[in-house]
Amino acid sequence: MAKYTGADCKLCRREGCKLFLKGDRCVTGKCSLERKPVAPGPHTEANKRVKPFGYAVQLREKQKVKRAYGLLERQFKKYYFEGKRQKGATGEVMLSLLERRLDNTVYRLGFGVSRAECRQIVNHGHILVNGKRVNIPSYQVKVGDVISISEKSLGLDMFKELKKNKVITPKWLELDASNVSGKVIAIPDRSDIDLNIAEHLIIELYSR
Ligand code: SF4
Repeated sequence: MAKYTGADCKLCRREGCKLFLKGDRCVTGKCSLERKPVAPGPHTEANKRVKPFGYAVQLREKQKVKRAYGLLERQFKKYYFEGKRQKGATGEVMLSLLERRLDNTVYRLGFGVSRAECRQIVNHGHILVNGKRVNIPSYQVKVGDVISISEKSLGLDMFKELKKNKVITPKWLELDASNVSGKVIAIPDRSDIDLNIAEHLIIELYSR
């Protein structure tokens, strides 16, 4: 599977907003976007950020969401088609499906500091869904699913501090007191998406 291997912060600078791709660094003064709030590339007059319009606005919005969830074009477009197929407003269903990915759920539960790290946590088999190991980041969680860190993995350094963390989960998830297990208690809706997204622009782009 192809993978973006460039600098994460460049993606935020390109989109002109924080995508929170680097964990703790994103909320400190070390954030590259805060230090250098310009698009990457040579800063010649011709390359200075111009206000995009029309197709460019739609494209940037799509890129922003795709990059925030760490997906490539083909993977991302599948969520649009699935959103279109299911009942409801296509954009909202698409966002709900993205939110219900297992790697994102693990991120929302605070088991890792970024979606990229959480994807790796899932890939490496540290996550159980209803007691069974699931190592597919795109796995869609359902209401009632219990997501936990496997007993064996809890001894790893990366999970040792979890119990001390104070995690604020979105309302569709419930984290238990141990901080190492959580339950899906609802389907995430539009209000659960904390990124500033104008999903209608993405729908317009794909409907062209
Ligand atoms: Fe984006 Fe985080 Fe880098 Fe800031 S530190 S530019 S929010 S990835």
